[in-house]
Amino acid sequence: MHRRVRSGGMSDHEVTLVALSLTPVQAVAHAAQIREWLLSASVIEQNPIPGTLADPSEFLPGPQAEAVATEDEVNRALTNSGVDIVVGRQVFDSGENLEPPTCPACATMLDSDTYIDLLDDWLRTAEPLATCAACAHAALLGDWAGEWTCQVGELDVCFNNWPPLRPEFTQELGRRLGSRWRVVYGHY
Ligand SMILES: [Zn+2]
Repeated sequence: MHRRVRSGGMSDHEVTLVALSLTPVQAVAHAAQIREWLLSASVIEQNPIPGTLADPSEFLPGPQAEAVATEDEVNRALTNSGVDIVVGRQVFDSGENLEPPTCPACATMLDSDTYIDLLDDWLRTAEPLATCAACAHAALLGDWAGEWTCQVGELDVCFNNWPPLRPEFTQELGRRLGSRWRVVYGHY
């Protein structure tokens, strides 16, 4: 699971863009390109001392961080306000808000136990098809709809405690993550 150091007693939120379509080898190359793009645009900057309780992330908000956010200020004074670009297959979950997704054809919600089993398959092997109990429509699990879903990917970019990102920035970053990508909003 996607778990990092949590600030004691405070609630953290994460916005994570997850690449669903990349092989492990592709993930390494895409991660390098995204790192270079975000650094050269000054959206992020290298954290000189990553791994501390206050700033565990590899990157900190850069001078241009506000240009990609919907609010005037990215609060650099917050504990854990950095950015991570992480290669490696994992499940990304919505934390306390988690809710199974709905059928893309008829909007019936997937059963929770079925959802957990399918996620486990996805993590261990490959993205499974989920078949709707109501209408029998079958679709890849990542194509089921929902705001508080889990996703499995080989590469992610995680913004810790940032204000919401601008839609055009989210789209551009997503495009750089490959042909299929999702946003996971985690709240802990
Ligand atoms: Zn259905």
